[in-house]
Amino acid sequence: MNRSWRAALTVFLFCLAGLLGGGILWLAGSPESASWLWMAGGIPALIDLLRRTWGALRRREAGVDVLALISIAGALLMQQALTASVIAAMLASGRLLESFAERRAGREMSALLGRAPRSARCYRNGALVEVPLDEIVPGDRLLIRRGEIIAADGTTITEHAVLDESALTGEALPVTYRNGDPVRSGSVNAGDAFEMVATATVANSTFSGIVKLVEAAQRSKAPAARLADRYALWFVPLALGMSGAAWLFSGDPLRALAVVVVATPCPLILAVPVAVVSAISRCAQRGILVKGGGALEALASARNLFFDKTGTLTGGQARLIRIDRTGAASRIDDTELLRLTASLEQMSHHVIAGAVVAAARARSIPLGVPDEVSEIPGSGVSGTLDGQRLMVGTYDYVTREAAVPGAVRELLDRTAVEGTAAVLVAVDGRYAGTLLLADALRTEAPRALRLLRKTGVRRIVMLTGDRREVAETIAIGLNIDEVLAGQTPADKLAAITAARESGPTVMVGDGVNDAPALAAATVGVAMGARGATASAEAAGIVLLADRLDRLAEALHIAHQARRIALQSVFAGMGFSLLAMLAAAFGFLAPLYGALVQEAIDVAVIINALRVLRIRPLRAARHRLAAADVERLRAEHQRLAPVLDHLDTAIGRLASMHPHEALPALTALDTLLQAQLLPHESADDRDVYPAIAGLLGGDDPMAAMSHSHREIFRLHRSFSAGIARLKTQPADTALLHDLQRSLHALDAILRLHFAQEEEIYQSVSED
Ligand code: ADP
Ligand code: MG
Repeated sequence: MNRSWRAALTVFLFCLAGLLGGGILWLAGSPESASWLWMAGGIPALIDLLRRTWGALRRREAGVDVLALISIAGALLMQQALTASVIAAMLASGRLLESFAERRAGREMSALLGRAPRSARCYRNGALVEVPLDEIVPGDRLLIRRGEIIAADGTTITEHAVLDESALTGEALPVTYRNGDPVRSGSVNAGDAFEMVATATVANSTFSGIVKLVEAAQRSKAPAARLADRYALWFVPLALGMSGAAWLFSGDPLRALAVVVVATPCPLILAVPVAVVSAISRCAQRGILVKGGGALEALASARNLFFDKTGTLTGGQARLIRIDRTGAASRIDDTELLRLTASLEQMSHHVIAGAVVAAARARSIPLGVPDEVSEIPGSGVSGTLDGQRLMVGTYDYVTREAAVPGAVRELLDRTAVEGTAAVLVAVDGRYAGTLLLADALRTEAPRALRLLRKTGVRRIVMLTGDRREVAETIAIGLNIDEVLAGQTPADKLAAITAARESGPTVMVGDGVNDAPALAAATVGVAMGARGATASAEAAGIVLLADRLDRLAEALHIAHQARRIALQSVFAGMGFSLLAMLAAAFGFLAPLYGALVQEAIDVAVIINALRVLRIRPLRAARHRLAAADVERLRAEHQRLAPVLDHLDTAIGRLASMHPHEALPALTALDTLLQAQLLPHESADDRDVYPAIAGLLGGDDPMAAMSHSHREIFRLHRSFSAGIARLKTQPADTALLHDLQRSLHALDAILRLHFAQEEEIYQSVSED
């Protein structure tokens, strides 16, 4: 890419030198030598043109370059050295602008590559040593100093780490990680030095995966000239016909030359590629990796959109709610079951597997290293640990080897309506229990889907390997046209293949099980880049930022880029046609024709470069600072334990003796009063007025304030219930009332938090 830029610059400077040198000689009174210099200056441009035309012919592409070739050759034959020189300069400057745009696009991506670390600091035998990257193995303890780039994926073992992930995600704001959180290679340590344990080799880490993707993207040249070639089919004959006619009727070959000169279709050759590379560069700035013009073109024409569920529509940061061992044949307790399961799940890239491992880490359970691991994507994993054979995954998967009691089916049906992910576990061929995880919809998902509809998507389908009940719970309110559940990777592939018959189809997925479908779609979109994954390799677009709304943004950029490219092409061609007419009727001499054409080219290319400035998709006009949004979200995260406490209390209340209930409920009440209520008051008092100002309108937060009032009302009735329970501790009806108000409180709080986060996000800046 750099070489092509340097070559284009050299050719252009050569032309310019010839042009200027010739001009000086001409002024000095030696037109003969001036002509020679003008012609000599054009030679590199001519060679470049011949090379490109030859290449196009060999690829059997209709070349528009042929007009440029004819005009230079014609000018030389007619001894119009100055004209030939100006045409050559025009071609060279066009190429220069094109490679400028390419270089810009390349720079966004190469910025990523240039940052690759070369070695890492690692503890070996208790001492901190510098080791080459390929010697890092999973389990190594690494020290990352401030400003250093993380070399391998891993988990932090320091209380606090602040990472700048902007190169990966386009997200300017540093992200805070806590002890045990997974971190990705390629991020920069923006805070104090911290320690981490590598979970992958450098070659298998996220950053290496992205580098490979970027290199592949840079190799695959955009097929952007296709559009130009379609027009060439009628434009080239038209220009030649007009030129011939002008010659015939006027008897003046110079007119014919003038027509071909102004027909030289630089806008066609250049506007589209410039728009495409600019769009790819714009996407890269937003954490969207586009692997070539083809993917972008497909995105702009997308009509069908297929989404995977787990990890794509849901965040994949599922929270372990509880472990159910009803009917379990094996006598393993919760902690041991979580240890075994999480140890095995370390080997899987599935998002639910990641959530299980995180749950074990959060409980400080030390994990083992399993053997003989094998995974069936979208079903589960098996392996051995401490001499026990483990099987972890879906109902269908585990029932292959273990008898699962009927109660489990009921459990799955009951929890499915809450969208809960269930992970079944069998140990030594006997059912041992089920891990229930709440996998919530991504906060940005509803907004992203609305934006996608707005950008012209007609049909949205959910495609999931999960059960229908869970899938439908997640789909509620998303305005999804169709839900296809229980899909194996092969089913997903078949669905995509079928959809392609009805129009350009986009598949969005995250897992290995989506890879075939991603590859089969008109364009596949992979969510995030965790590790060097198959899905990111199969996809045409990777959302490094791991946010669904970036897909809407990519679509928006693709549409705008296409619009601007077409605008450039049509305006450029229109002007060229006018100039051709003028030339045919003798109003434009070849030399001036070349100058006019140069002006049109520059205007058209500058217009195409506008793609670099496409503004992100937005609803509101004003913005909340990203740091504020982060703070508000962090506050909700801080309150997550309170909600968990509420959940547990509800669960336990059902089986509790009335006498035990009072202390538990009083403790809960204290917690709510100390943490939750002050938060809600502060929101209503300080945050909402500010948000209302951003949203505009009369009182846009009225509905949200209403739920504050409802939360306070429910809490009051709960407190009042507790007070009464103190005097009549055995009143079961009262206990039921209390349970009901807790249920209501729980439901409203979860909804309320989600709504708030969505509002904050919708008014946030980047
Ligand atoms: P989706 O298509 O919605 O992304 P998948 O096809 O990836 O879902 O997975 C389908 C189901 O299989 C999920 O509900 C998940 O719980 C289960 N599953 C797949 N792989 C694993 C694993 N390694 N560990 C636990 N559960 C798994
Ligand atoms: Mg998935």
